[in-house]
Amino acid sequence: MSGPMRITVLRLGHRPERDKRITTHVCLTARALGCERVVVTERDDRVVEGVNDVVKRFGGPFAIESGAPYRPLLKNFPGTKVHLTMYGLPMQEVVPQIPKDRDLLVVVGAEKVPRDVYDLVDWNVAVGNQPHSEVAALALFLYAVQGDAAFAKTFQGQIEVEPSARGKVVRPRGEAAPSDES
Ligand code: SAM
Repeated sequence: MSGPMRITVLRLGHRPERDKRITTHVCLTARALGCERVVVTERDDRVVEGVNDVVKRFGGPFAIESGAPYRPLLKNFPGTKVHLTMYGLPMQEVVPQIPKDRDLLVVVGAEKVPRDVYDLVDWNVAVGNQPHSEVAALALFLYAVQGDAAFAKTFQGQIEVEPSARGKVVRPRGEAAPSDES
């Protein structure tokens, strides 16, 4: 690999009838914090469509696929593999040991994670040893690994947000900000 670390998120155990919203949040968090791809192990076309709609409007590049079994990806991934789990080693200890010049695969679960996942990864990493959320764990871990570079990606969408102290300013991408002068 050359250039900055490319990050893929692997979402395990998605239950379409229960997890649509939280899996979508996993995907949007990955996209917003510098990842290039999410793989959801169970097929769910609604999640894929929802994420692709955000990518179309707010920009990519970002790829999502669903219905891809985890074992081949974990066995063949040519980089560092990290599983986020409350039972793992503290993030603060592991992050300094993760090479910055290799691609990274970050695994998050939904319900009980299969036992072999713990052995197929390089690191089982805890974002604190208390149970919380895959979205929170992913966001904190991505920021710990990348620092402010988590927000450095430029998105090529139809619209963009103009940072604003108050209110909501959204405009077609590339269009000049409205002037305060009248
Ligand atoms: N009880 C499940 C298990 O035994 O694997 C975990 C359920 S939890 C709601 C869903 C996912 O959130 C986990 O698979 C893990 O990826 C993530 N997660 C929750 N708390 C975490 C923590 N403290 N550190 C790292 N990841 C965490």
